[in-house]
Amino acid sequence: MIRIDIATLFPAMCEAVLSESIIGRARAAGAVRIACHDIRSYTLNKHRRVDDKPFGGGTGMVMQAQPIYDCVKAIEAELPEGAKPRLIYMSPQGRTLTQSIVKELAAEDSLILLCGHYEGVDARVLEELAFEEISVGDYVVTGGELPALILADAVCRLQDGVLPNEDAYTEESHFGGLLEYPQYTRPEEWRGRRVPEVLLSGHHGNIDKWRHEKSVEVTREKRPDMLANIQHGKINKNG
Ligand code: SAM
Repeated sequence: MIRIDIATLFPAMCEAVLSESIIGRARAAGAVRIACHDIRSYTLNKHRRVDDKPFGGGTGMVMQAQPIYDCVKAIEAELPEGAKPRLIYMSPQGRTLTQSIVKELAAEDSLILLCGHYEGVDARVLEELAFEEISVGDYVVTGGELPALILADAVCRLQDGVLPNEDAYTEESHFGGLLEYPQYTRPEEWRGRRVPEVLLSGHHGNIDKWRHEKSVEVTREKRPDMLANIQHGKINKNG
């Protein structure tokens, strides 16, 4: 079972999200293990400070190296002997998260996700602990918590026992390199719009064929770059 540890200044913010819905139920059922750690608990400063002004001047504050280092070391000490956690700093400067990176991370036993805040973290702790950096896109948010929650959610839903079966994630957008076909539910007609007849036919062969054709059509329309990747052999059926 994968274990994900999140090092953050705002553990309650992460817990609030991770206790709900599918991930909350998966945690309760023991399908995944996620723990949120308060970096502030590791400060040696009597005022419980975890940040300071940047050397060289400039706006904002920088998270100090020592509380982060001690927090990560405390998490590592809790891991089973021989565990080799992937240390990931959520950062707008990192590799952009894709479904193929999610699959790679989902195969690990242990991930430690570091959430920065303010102007970011002292660069020395990233070097010292050899963090890799992952971004959720080319924009900047105020803290690493939302990016860490996105990564944790995407990784958890690929774990056994989190979704009802493999189809629940293999048939989704991005998994096999295409976007998903359109979905419909009751009623059969709504505001004069009928559900495509083939989906009501009960003929699974025809339904599969229609869905594949629609996947290609939707991908061509919304993300032609993805189709180009398939044509260039960059993605196979398993992503
Ligand atoms: N000064 C940093 C820079 O320019 O690269 C940005 C700091 S940002 C305001 C604060 C924190 O939010 C970062 O330390 C990082 O953990 C997180 N963050 C912001 N944007 C992110 C993104 N696109 N992906 C992942 N994490 C992000």
